[in-house]
Amino acid sequence: MAIIEHYNQSRELALEHENRRLKSLLESLVDKAELNQKTFSKFQNLEFDLLHTAHLPLLLKKLTEDFKQRLDIEFLSLVLYDPYGIFSEILTSIYPNSNPQNVRFVKDHNFFETLYQNNYQPQIRQKNKALVHTLFAKDASVRSIMTLPLTRNNLVIGSYHLGSVNQQRFTPEMSTDFYAHFAQVVAICLENTANTEHLKHLSLIDPLTKTKNRRCLYQSLEKEIARADRNMVPLSCLFIDIDHFKQVNDQYGHAMGDQVLEHVAQVIQPNLRATDLLARFGGEEFTTILPNCDEQFALNISERIRQMIASQSFTTSDQKTFNITCSIGITTWSPARNATQKENLADAIINQADKALYTAKNNGRNQCVWRSFGAED
Ligand code: GH3
Ligand code: MG
Ligand code: MG
Repeated sequence: MAIIEHYNQSRELALEHENRRLKSLLESLVDKAELNQKTFSKFQNLEFDLLHTAHLPLLLKKLTEDFKQRLDIEFLSLVLYDPYGIFSEILTSIYPNSNPQNVRFVKDHNFFETLYQNNYQPQIRQKNKALVHTLFAKDASVRSIMTLPLTRNNLVIGSYHLGSVNQQRFTPEMSTDFYAHFAQVVAICLENTANTEHLKHLSLIDPLTKTKNRRCLYQSLEKEIARADRNMVPLSCLFIDIDHFKQVNDQYGHAMGDQVLEHVAQVIQPNLRATDLLARFGGEEFTTILPNCDEQFALNISERIRQMIASQSFTTSDQKTFNITCSIGITTWSPARNATQKENLADAIINQADKALYTAKNNGRNQCVWRSFGAED
């Protein structure tokens, strides 16, 4: 009897022990599942956010700045493969004020080959001074690093770098599955946004001079008129036309003519403020829209542009040198002075600047002429 009782007691003890063990295992599994669920939702939210961002500078800012807090990371950086300079061109011509931080563009694959050594998987790396300098700011106090290769259709399109001041943030035993998926979404979003922005760029930018085209000019002019109207400030428009440009083509060839057009755009641009707009209206004609700019200011800018263009000298492949001049027509629209006209304002402004240009040509070229917006023929 005593033996049976003893047997039952020890069986109970063993079962109780096994029970406790299973319970604690279950608890740790539940904890792990909850943590996984949390991590899953965190990444899912980040991915949704990226998938809804079709604006390149905003996408880059999210990846390199906004996600620091959400990923609990102090340093983020991005290197993008940009062999034809398309990313750079989109940023400079469509978003000239965007100036993305911690994003670098490379023209070949050397950077990625050196970093990944043919192993294009998320990689956890311990602190290494040279690597920290390559991936982050020189003074970055990074102690552990995760690098995520960004690939599309087996091609590397970039690399995304997460740096932590905590040495335990990324450790070799940690699972990288969530990050691998995240990197896929980042790559898709970058590629999609770059493609969309590139199409937009092609539809708005003149391929030769990289200035805005006529369609973009009209779109921007409408917006600027509305803004000037709201703020009750004047807006000026310049019509710049190269003098006797046909002769440049005839004497030095069409290719030289193209070079002149490209160069003229580069000469005009630095004279403008960040909020001004330069467009190629057609052929050898450029238009600039100067928001919040009165007659005197517009005349000063025009005169500076005219003089700079006249001071350029061009050299042909057979060492002939030549100069060009331009004529500039200007008009200023002011919501206070020209309040009566509200219809077709963009056309009317361009028209008046064009008429002023016509006067400048008739008066002998190489000069600036201002014409009042309200002037009748
Ligand atoms: P004006 O002083 O009266 O403006 O004379 P112009 O010769 O500049 O004006 P015109 O309108 O007679 O000629 C413009 C020339 O611009 C003719 C055309 O061949 C040239 N042109 C237009 N687009 C391009 C271009 O994309 N590249 C080159 N190389 N030439 C172009
Ligand atoms: Mg012309
Ligand atoms: Mg001309």
